[in-house]
Amino acid sequence: MDVCKNILALKEQIPRQDIKLVAVSKTQSVETILEAYNCGQREFGENKVQELCGKYENLKNFDIEWHMIGHLQRNKVKYIAGFVSMIHGVDSLKLLIEIDKQAKKHDRIINCLLQFHIADEETKFGFDFDECIDDLRTEEYNKLRNINICGVMGMASFTDNMLKVREEFKKMKKYFDSIKTNIFEQNSDFKEISMGMTNDWQVAVEEGATILRIGSLIFGKR
Ligand SMILES: *Cc1c(COP(=O)(O)O)cnc(C)c1O
Repeated sequence: MDVCKNILALKEQIPRQDIKLVAVSKTQSVETILEAYNCGQREFGENKVQELCGKYENLKNFDIEWHMIGHLQRNKVKYIAGFVSMIHGVDSLKLLIEIDKQAKKHDRIINCLLQFHIADEETKFGFDFDECIDDLRTEEYNKLRNINICGVMGMASFTDNMLKVREEFKKMKKYFDSIKTNIFEQNSDFKEISMGMTNDWQVAVEEGATILRIGSLIFGKR
């Protein structure tokens, strides 16, 4: 695998300059991450807290932005709050409150994305849309000072049916637009749609993605 070549080829294919590429480095070694780093890649995504912390420790001296893209348990927020750049999988007010609390201890403001369930597959992760809107209107939420909600995140169904995937991404964009209008009209930080992986990133871009999370296409099969 020529990681650098893959990244450069991918960047050349991404049609808009403002789209952020998060290289999903789960299961990859520190050496492999450095190959990507030396090729100009600065944003990396991990889905497990322990693995993320280990890699952060090893690569402390590099100006890497770490993205937590997996499901995050409340009791583990404290391990990443000191350094994480963005948390993609926020799916409850309780989790937001915990992130805020831990961010405050480090005198930081942590960027968060609201996760929605757009795929067919059964999963317990992701906000219910109406519940999310209600939560964002509570006093509890409005008191939080150390989190910054930057947009939404979702994963399409694992299928080759790109029509279906496209419909799911359209749903994500609708969620984004609706939350923007209802809650964040005056907030220019709320602008990100994190969707699109190795198999569906082109469709995601066409449907409005601003952050792509791509692993295998860069690093090879896991
Ligand atoms: C693993 C993972 C990705 C990247 O998947 P690829 O198919 O390897 O590009 C993206 N998002 C999440 C949440 C993941 O867990």
